[in-house]
Amino acid sequence: MAELNPFRIAQQQLDEAAEALGLDSATHEALRWPMREMIVTLTVRMDDGSVKIFRGYRVQYNDARGPTKGGIRFHPQETLDTVRALAAWMTWKTAVMDLPLGGGKGGVTCNPKEMSEAELERLSRAYIRQVGRILGPEIDVPAPDVNTTPQVMAWMMDEFSALRGYNVPGVITGKPLPLGGSLGRPDATARGGMYALREAAKVLDIPLEGATAAIQGFGNVGQHAGILAQELFHMKILAVADEFGGIYNPHGIDAKALAEHVRETGSVTRFPGTDSITNQELLEMEADVLFPAAIEGVITAANADKIKARVVCELANGPTTPEADRILHDRGIFVLPDILANAGGVTVSYFEQVQNAYNFYWTLDEIHQRLNQKMTKAFADFYAAYQRHKVHPRLAAYMVAVSRVAEAMKLRGWV
Ligand code: NAD
Repeated sequence: MAELNPFRIAQQQLDEAAEALGLDSATHEALRWPMREMIVTLTVRMDDGSVKIFRGYRVQYNDARGPTKGGIRFHPQETLDTVRALAAWMTWKTAVMDLPLGGGKGGVTCNPKEMSEAELERLSRAYIRQVGRILGPEIDVPAPDVNTTPQVMAWMMDEFSALRGYNVPGVITGKPLPLGGSLGRPDATARGGMYALREAAKVLDIPLEGATAAIQGFGNVGQHAGILAQELFHMKILAVADEFGGIYNPHGIDAKALAEHVRETGSVTRFPGTDSITNQELLEMEADVLFPAAIEGVITAANADKIKARVVCELANGPTTPEADRILHDRGIFVLPDILANAGGVTVSYFEQVQNAYNFYWTLDEIHQRLNQKMTKAFADFYAAYQRHKVHPRLAAYMVAVSRVAEAMKLRGWV
């Protein structure tokens, strides 16, 4: 089970890159641990008058290349180690995208599905009252992630601004548009993934037009991925799954209609005209592209030899364990690594920061164009390293990212 601790996985991934790069031991050791972490206890008044205690985290992993950046998750299984792993991955993600940012992450152990809107607002504000002292546009900038929405970002931005006594829109990204949000943020992660997939398909010589797909997770990222895969490439979505189960239709599933069904019923299950399947069956399905878009640790040594997709486009963070990486690589399955494939979200978040700083806003076309440029360039840098070093794709992406962070640390005189 040690394999499944996400922070151990993140450290193993770094270790492999450090060895391949011949990184000196001081830089390597410094990069194995977060630069700063904060654990807080939040007291929140519930609607029935009782007070509930929650545990919250903010981890600033490394800021050698710029202010730390990374989402906040509200999840019952959130732990310090999941947040550390995600903060490490943000560091590599901003570096592989060549953004002038470091990596961080936050989380609260809670079940937002059992909380009212008013309780969520009080929780969000309590989190900022505790963690706000280490946040700021030039320090650390959170964003939405699992179970946190633009509304949550709005409450957090408002609480931070109230503490400072003036408006600070740049403290957080993923805000609603009237509060300084960016156009193009809702589908940015999925759209970036599609641009990266398009570049991968070119070099792998896989025609995307009409290719088949399976999607695990149909929340923010999975829904947009399904809709864009159909809009941009006319892909045929054979199967979709969420935490409640999966659905299958060999003739294809309409992503827009399924998103509507999820809005009405809360799950993809029982979508008319489909058969039920399990999450395992979905992962092992015969499809050209598998999109993990749910949670970490779903492709492991136990199922990697049964995966049949030609490309795994990792929209989720950390869906594949290191052992599974090697198995997939040996079997000729191309993994488009998470730090690149799902970096569209942080890239448009970065655009949002830039727009907030200038107090001047771009059109949707400008956002799409700049995202396209950034993803295309990042894929080219990654693919050049993949060809040069002849290693598995995640290692190639890590080698690009880690060497960029290490160079910044060296230039600053830290190591
Ligand atoms: P979300 O909460 O909107 O959706 C999560 C989806 O995963 C839901 O459909 C849920 O039912 C499903 N799910 C949860 N547990 C599952 C399980 N055990 N088995 C199968 N399905 C399960 O979250 P999201 O924002 O879409 O994020 C999904 C993934 O993408 C996460 O790994 C997140 O870290 C990553 N990610 C998100 C963004 C972003 O911009 N939102 C950016 C980069 C990476």
